[in-house]
Amino acid sequence: MSEKKRCGWAWGDENSNMVRYHDNEWGKPCHDERELFELLILEGMQAGISWSIVLNKREAFREAMDNFDYNKIKDYDETKVAELLQNPGIIRAKAKINAAITNAKAFIQIQEEFGSFDKYIWGFTDGKTLVENEPPVPTKTPLSEAISADMKKRGIKFCGPVIVYSYLQAIGIINAHDKDCFCCPIN
Ligand SMILES: [Zn+2]
Repeated sequence: MSEKKRCGWAWGDENSNMVRYHDNEWGKPCHDERELFELLILEGMQAGISWSIVLNKREAFREAMDNFDYNKIKDYDETKVAELLQNPGIIRAKAKINAAITNAKAFIQIQEEFGSFDKYIWGFTDGKTLVENEPPVPTKTPLSEAISADMKKRGIKFCGPVIVYSYLQAIGIINAHDKDCFCCPIN
């Protein structure tokens, strides 16, 4: 019986959050506004901790934060923030929770300016996916640095070049599947 080869980081059994994320989302072009926002927030939540922890808390985040509805999150007040900080299912970091609120506002402003966040973010590559899977794998690139700087200018928090590089991989602007992974687009 042959087993599917995957990128080295996608460990776990077929039903693990890591493997399902790798197989179904990572590197696949995402054009849905809500999903683009969700992944932006989750990538920021990842700062300093592992992605598997974030993925395992994803459902709890969705429940606690209105399924990442930026129109609701933008209006979260101190009472809501205090409630979230009591929720053991999510990552209880005040700076990150506050950043999600700030980022919801900035996200909406970008939508207003560009028509959609999708147009804004995919505009950096003219809608194209870049395949970047030559080792050594970078943690950031000139593109992620440029987008990071632009996002910062627009008031987005937790969007350093390393986080943005990871985000671009998540939403499929960069496809970084290993050459021997079954998801590699060149196979
Ligand atoms: Zn892969």
